[in-house]
Amino acid sequence: MKTHVRVLVIGGGVVGVSTLYHLTKKGWKDVALIERTELTAGSTWHAAGLLPLFNMSYTVGQLHKYSVDLYKRLPEETGQDVSFHVSGNLRLATCKERMDEYQKYCGTANTIGVPFEVIGPKRVKELWPLVELGGSADTPAIIGALYHPDDGHIAPADLTMALRKGARSAGAEIYEHTEAQAIERTPSGEWKVRTPKGDIVAEHLVLATGNYARQTGRLLGLNVPAIPVEHQYIVYDESPELKAYRQGGGRELAVLRESDQSYYLREERMGWILGPYEKGAPARFADGVPDWFGRSLFPGDLDRLVPHVEAATRRVPALENCGIKDIVNGPISYTPDGSPLIGPAFGLRNVWLNEGHSFGITAAGGSGWQLAEWITQGEPGIDMLAVDPRRYGAYTGKRYVVQKNEETYRNVFTIHFPDEERADARPAKTSPVYDKLSARGAVWGQRYGWERALWFAPPGVERKDAWSFRRSNYFPHVGNEVRLMREQVGIIDLTPFTKHEITGPGAEAWLDGLVANKVPSKIGRMALSHALTPRGGIRSEFTITKVADQHFYVVSAGAAERFDGDYLVKALPADGSVQLRNITNTRGCFVVAGPKSRAVLTKLTDTPLDNDAFPWLTAQTIEAALAVDVYALRVNFVGSLGWELHFPIEYAHNLFDALFEAGAAHGIGMVGMRAMESLRMEKSYRMWGSDMTPDYTPFEASLDRFVRMKKGAFIGREALERQLAAGVPNRFVTLEVHGVTDADPLGNEPLFDKSGRMIGRATSGYYGHCVKKSLAIGYVKAEFAEPGTPLSILILGEMKQATVLRESPYDPDNIELRA
Ligand SMILES: Cc1cc2nc3c(=O)[nH]c(=O)nc-3n(C[C@H](O)[C@H](O)[C@H](O)COP(=O)(O)OP(=O)(O)OC[C@H]3O[C@@H](n4cnc5c(N)ncnc54)[C@H](O)[C@@H]3O)c2cc1C
Repeated sequence: MKTHVRVLVIGGGVVGVSTLYHLTKKGWKDVALIERTELTAGSTWHAAGLLPLFNMSYTVGQLHKYSVDLYKRLPEETGQDVSFHVSGNLRLATCKERMDEYQKYCGTANTIGVPFEVIGPKRVKELWPLVELGGSADTPAIIGALYHPDDGHIAPADLTMALRKGARSAGAEIYEHTEAQAIERTPSGEWKVRTPKGDIVAEHLVLATGNYARQTGRLLGLNVPAIPVEHQYIVYDESPELKAYRQGGGRELAVLRESDQSYYLREERMGWILGPYEKGAPARFADGVPDWFGRSLFPGDLDRLVPHVEAATRRVPALENCGIKDIVNGPISYTPDGSPLIGPAFGLRNVWLNEGHSFGITAAGGSGWQLAEWITQGEPGIDMLAVDPRRYGAYTGKRYVVQKNEETYRNVFTIHFPDEERADARPAKTSPVYDKLSARGAVWGQRYGWERALWFAPPGVERKDAWSFRRSNYFPHVGNEVRLMREQVGIIDLTPFTKHEITGPGAEAWLDGLVANKVPSKIGRMALSHALTPRGGIRSEFTITKVADQHFYVVSAGAAERFDGDYLVKALPADGSVQLRNITNTRGCFVVAGPKSRAVLTKLTDTPLDNDAFPWLTAQTIEAALAVDVYALRVNFVGSLGWELHFPIEYAHNLFDALFEAGAAHGIGMVGMRAMESLRMEKSYRMWGSDMTPDYTPFEASLDRFVRMKKGAFIGREALERQLAAGVPNRFVTLEVHGVTDADPLGNEPLFDKSGRMIGRATSGYYGHCVKKSLAIGYVKAEFAEPGTPLSILILGEMKQATVLRESPYDPDNIELRA
């Protein structure tokens, strides 16, 4: 066994072996994998082998697409068959909302180049003659389906062996019966892994340990939010009807998914495999996998299976005539949002996670591909935020993860509405004024563990969302909040913002090297700044305010706390000249905005708020009501006259009550996140994570005014120079979408030119309640970015005309902001 390697992968399931394979593809040959028992001994050996291309996430969709393409070419490359049955995949719909979901997905599929067909019942029957089209109360009529002709199922163990062969023939080593038992950091910063066969030192470590993710994480002091849930499928005996159909020349039936009954069904040796996602499936191994489990399975739980078996038998009566051969019930790794953890481990250099895979057979290829790119080149090739382990924070304690994973499992097949908010493990993190907002009718959502008021139900209106892909019950109330903000004064509680304090003699120069904008050098100045990837893509957005000498207050998105914090910590200079403190939970934030905001705030503070004393884009430390040491920032994400008040958290109640008392005469009211979405869309404000991602540079995002190419070195600058020399390929645009009556764009819709060629994608969309326009923002090829350019956009299967607008349809000259 080698004693030193460049990368050591821990875990010999399909995901670990794929990572090893892809590292060799990147030219890193000094790599090895250790497996505690035998390859595939974890969840891989008993997986059903389905490879669904369907995924609502733009990132995960790309990973799955890569996998399916790779698995088709692997046999030729490695000489090892993988039993890939390209049977196709049919997802049935029995209600209009389900068809909306498929149509929404089709937008994403278009933008990433996944082939699909939306079909009607007649074609369903042609493709799947053994299905009942239904039409009764217990077997509703199939109204349509989504068909992927290119996916199917594979033999997971064969796939792993093909990847193993590819990796080994390129020089990688694999050691079975070699468990990682302890891990420590060497003085030189490498990682020493103790195994029963001796120590291995590695520059980089990859954890790909499936159900063992939590205990492997513990070896490094990491809390990995991956806990498995029981998942079972039934293996049926031979089916006479299926046999007759196949012997009569019928082609292999597509994998069938009846989403509305939460099960999948596929052929298996003239019989079937039926896999439901049941209610009540328990999380397992929250404290680690016990030694006795090994390659075992859990006993089958028929009670949980029965409702799905009955529904499937009504839909496919052939199931009635075959006996059950086996029930496979195994642990399937889950995370709170159901997407895997692929990327850097927080807080530790050169430790990488490829954990938490619930569709690991499908995702193995893509996750190995991107992780290998990340390790060898310092960044992934596509935007990986949706799967980045740092999208979770410290709030993912054991009980939170257990509850969320069980909830996510039982909701695999429920309709994924864009405005869906799940109920379990809530409320977890709340702002101090949570109860006050509830009393004002808040309808709550959750992000990064925080409760956030989505909208406020007026008296007499039910505090409940009717989730939809279209305008819904809250539409008029959100409109009222938008108008309140534009015409009077509104408050948004943005306490969840990520807040860092950066101090020390080296602070300014250090920050300046991290971001593309000039870091403010005068006290009271602020700058919207973007940290870029080495390829020039946007990785983070920071509002940097200089609050005192050698003292910066840095604010970023609430959901970016660990993502940004980890980046900043790892980038700190070693000489101690800069101190970084995460102060997220020590300060609250209220946005006070609208034309009356000055009048309201003036009653709370002695600090003059007129334009001369407190101009737009400046900051001061003020007293407001009884609150002291309040950072007042004359900036906001809604585009009206206003201030963000960042106050010591203990003053939240006092400040809140004082604002409402002072604002009563001006009609002050609360404004929620949905109204903020409408307000920011009217101002073309880009949102980190959806409109600003590593896929686009700040020039493509038309954020040129926040890039100072002449200021000196910063990360990503060379890439920007190259892009400027070659020409900026895409540009950010704001679009008015015409003829929308109930389905506004929401992001991930494809954009087309007059000839029907796809030339871009929307990254967000919403109804602009003040400008009274349905709006989309996103990226198009640069030649289509001129205001007035006619385009079209596909929304829920309907092609709509759209026109490129001048940026910021509401108050384009920022007159209100400067008022
Ligand atoms: C019943 C069932 C059906 C499924 N069907 C499908 C499907 O149809 N399609 C699909 O895409 N996915 C499916 N899955 C999910 C799929 O099985 C997993 O996502 C996938 O196998 C995960 O692979 P992995 O490599 O991450 O983990 P694993 O296969 O569990 O591999 C992890 C490996 O790490 C090893 N290990 C752990 N700790 C250590 C250590 N300290 N040192 C060394 N080695 C260690 C383990 O022994 C294990 O071999 C199914 C799962 C179940 C339970």
